[in-house]
Amino acid sequence: MTRDATRQDRDDSTLPPPPSPAPGLKYRRIVLKISGEALCGEGNFGIHPDTLQRVAAEIAELSSLGVQIGIVVGGGNIFRGLKGASAGMDRSQSDYMGMLATVINSLALQDALEKHGVPTRVMTAIEIRQVAEPYIRRRAMRHLEKGSVVIFAAGTGNPFFSTDTAAALRAMEIQAQAIFKATKVEGIYDRDPARHEDAQMFTKLSYDRFLVDRIGVMDSTAVTLCRENKLPIRVFKLTTRGNILRVCKGENIGTVVEA
Ligand code: UDP
Repeated sequence: MTRDATRQDRDDSTLPPPPSPAPGLKYRRIVLKISGEALCGEGNFGIHPDTLQRVAAEIAELSSLGVQIGIVVGGGNIFRGLKGASAGMDRSQSDYMGMLATVINSLALQDALEKHGVPTRVMTAIEIRQVAEPYIRRRAMRHLEKGSVVIFAAGTGNPFFSTDTAAALRAMEIQAQAIFKATKVEGIYDRDPARHEDAQMFTKLSYDRFLVDRIGVMDSTAVTLCRENKLPIRVFKLTTRGNILRVCKGENIGTVVEA
């Protein structure tokens, strides 16, 4: 038996459900989905160091309260598969580039979290062993139980999917209690709030309504997965200081998508 196989067997022991939340908190284990764009600050490309630090500080605060945090980072600030495909590239090839972009963001976030003293593991759906661990569900859960933040990189590992779907998939695999979908706006609106001043924000939305109305905040594959597994999605603004913690305390901010 190889050394790796032995270690994997050891990790395959017991997998208790997430412990109860700490006093004053609603959740004990969550998946936070951060889009790539959320990391580029005011610009529309790359990683803005101050924004990255700010996001890391908020995650560090949550982690210090004992919340087990899995993170899925997008790659749209670097490369999107659809954009490559519309410029004539093979779609799968282009999607793999997008998935590698998420690895770059994940490594940047790992660095920022470690600077805040948070033990952080990056686990990739596509093996890149020199820079990150391969994704193994049971090992990911062990890391979470021991207090490490786990960043799930490279999406689902499959072209034609998105990091929203990766977030839904990983959340179900690790038995997270909710997906926190951090966006640039306060929640989900009936119209684009950037173009319509009178756009109304929903405080609550059913999965069915979300799917029927074809709301673009999250892709439908991800929402369908959440619906089938009754996993709530809380959509809120990332850049409002303290929002991540507020959501974890159960405050009714942004929009919740649930049954
Ligand atoms: N991607 C993919 N499969 C996945 C996740 C992501 O092919 O499971 C690719 C896809 O090309 C996508 C890119 O990675 O455009 C970046 O992810 P996404 O667009 O979800 O990032 P975000 O919009 O959240 O920044």
